[in-house]
Amino acid sequence: MLLYHGIAAASRERFTVARERFLQQIEILLATEHTAITIGELADCIRGARALPARPVVITFDDGYEDTPAAVHRLVAAGLRATVYLTAGSIGADGMISAAQVAALAECGPPVELGAHSISHPRLDELEPHALRREIIEGKQIVEQLAGGAIDTFAYPHGAYDARVRAAVIEAGFRSAAAVKNAISHTGDDPWAIARYTVTRDMRADRFARVLDGSGAPPAWRDERRRTRIARAGRRVRRRLSAREANGA
Ligand SMILES: [Zn+2]
Repeated sequence: MLLYHGIAAASRERFTVARERFLQQIEILLATEHTAITIGELADCIRGARALPARPVVITFDDGYEDTPAAVHRLVAAGLRATVYLTAGSIGADGMISAAQVAALAECGPPVELGAHSISHPRLDELEPHALRREIIEGKQIVEQLAGGAIDTFAYPHGAYDARVRAAVIEAGFRSAAAVKNAISHTGDDPWAIARYTVTRDMRADRFARVLDGSGAPPAWRDERRRTRIARAGRRVRRRLSAREANGA
């Protein structure tokens, strides 16, 4: 599960990936026959409501920069889905995504999932209860208004969350949430703290490929109890997929 921030003609800083490198990464995703699903779809897989495709990948963008829509449209044109988390208070600001661009992304339909990423991008685990709820609930409402539909996935700013923040996100009606962890997510992951691996400016093709095939980053384990449940769910998904293959589907 990949986490991008900005994609620019020339990389400005560590979390901005140069456009050329991003295009090369799309080529790698296609050459390795990865199927991109959204965070919401991954959460459904974790819950056992949907089978994971072969070689799944989740591509996410945080914050919502002015160059994010172009990158997302590139992915969609290549048949890859993406999830975009928007910092509500930054929409329309200098260098950031505009309200019209948000509406255009919403019109892409199922290949593009829009998510909330708070209003002002604070560390939520440091906020008082009232401010915490406001950042989560009002941030959701703002994005919903611009998107013209329900938003049910959230990304923790700075990847910062604790049990209280996670509970507030669930209470606000979100069905999934993305963390950072820099690990590989899987069907045993927590749907309200899905692991993502940050793609940085200096990430070369070989490293990117190793993160994709799972050899370049650790799996995200929640706890032992869950680990057994996951192994069980993984077996169930594998059984379902092989049954489907046997049926020629
Ligand atoms: Zn962010």
